[in-house]
Amino acid sequence: MVVLTYVYVIIIDKININGDFVLKDIILGEAKGLGIDIIGFTDGEVFSELQPVIKDRLDKGFISSFFHVDIEQNTNPLIVWKDTKSIISIGVSYKHKLDETKIDKSRCSISRVAWGQDYHNILLEKMNRLMSNITREYPDIKYKAYVDNAPLLDRAVAHRSGLGFYGKNGFIINKLYGSYIFLGHILTNIELGKSSELDDCTTCRFCSRCIQACPTGAIKEGYDFNSNKCISFFTQKKELLSREERKYIGKMVYGCDICQEVCPINKTAKYSNEAAFVPLKDVVRPKIKDIINMDNAMFKNIYKSSSAGWRGKKILQRNAIIVAGNIKTEENYQLLKQTLNDSRWDIRMYSMFSLLEYGERGMNEIKEKLNGEDEEFRKNFNIYC
Ligand code: SF4
Repeated sequence: MVVLTYVYVIIIDKININGDFVLKDIILGEAKGLGIDIIGFTDGEVFSELQPVIKDRLDKGFISSFFHVDIEQNTNPLIVWKDTKSIISIGVSYKHKLDETKIDKSRCSISRVAWGQDYHNILLEKMNRLMSNITREYPDIKYKAYVDNAPLLDRAVAHRSGLGFYGKNGFIINKLYGSYIFLGHILTNIELGKSSELDDCTTCRFCSRCIQACPTGAIKEGYDFNSNKCISFFTQKKELLSREERKYIGKMVYGCDICQEVCPINKTAKYSNEAAFVPLKDVVRPKIKDIINMDNAMFKNIYKSSSAGWRGKKILQRNAIIVAGNIKTEENYQLLKQTLNDSRWDIRMYSMFSLLEYGERGMNEIKEKLNGEDEEFRKNFNIYC
């Protein structure tokens, strides 16, 4: 609590230079009461330094299909909303403990970003409550709140608002909470001044652990990143995955934590107080068989309200089948024999891919089944196996 106060004091001190102290003081007080761990402010100026970065990554094919590229919209707050005068950037920590004992080969993994409830909803609710409390006193204030759904980049806004510095893995790293922070921002029609942007990360100057740890080489020197090679992207991609991509998925059915887990700053980062992100072991380290056999009711009750559910039930099941090929056990083999008869063509195809990982035994299992599939199926099978 003492440290949290420190963060708020620092930011008040810095924003006091430009804007309305009373209003900002109220915003900071309200934010703290709503469990917003970090908050900062910036103006509506164009993020011009981002333009060449986006263009360069686009030219290199480093931007995945999940990001809608429109450089003007991605970097100009006034195009997103013409009344923008200031932007409030917020961060909420999601670092929680999980008892990893008794996690055996029957289980798969879900990334920390999808532990607990969907952060998009939680952060939007916090920002809307913050602003409705403020607009009650200041009815002329208008605003628009975003979490991962604005043309602007939450990370760029957070950086310029002083929430943290960029790590080599592309995440925003806060000195207290590390990079385990969900980010959101609010465009407002009032002047709120600017928090100070932070210098480069001193730890990053002498560290490249995230670059070395990333199995696919997605993280490059020079703060560059190829999102098309990110394992998290593989787990969410709907197109057929290559064998290499399937191997990289390892035991993940959603997301990837490798580059954040190895970061020394995260090891000592403060834990989250947000109850909405507390993980349940059976949900975030589920049995592979439970995901494969998941019905609509289970998906709706457990995963649809988490970030892991946004691509639908079948993607999680597909990934669990891939995991059953990566973690070779008799139980997983029997599961794959069962899914080989699924009514969905892609589930059958991934079951065949995974059975191939079991060598001759698996090969014998799929031979006859493959002959029963149509030509298009067999063609894709041969390309991607
Ligand atoms: Fe920076 Fe090292 Fe963390 Fe990567 S692992 S973000 S290089 S401190």
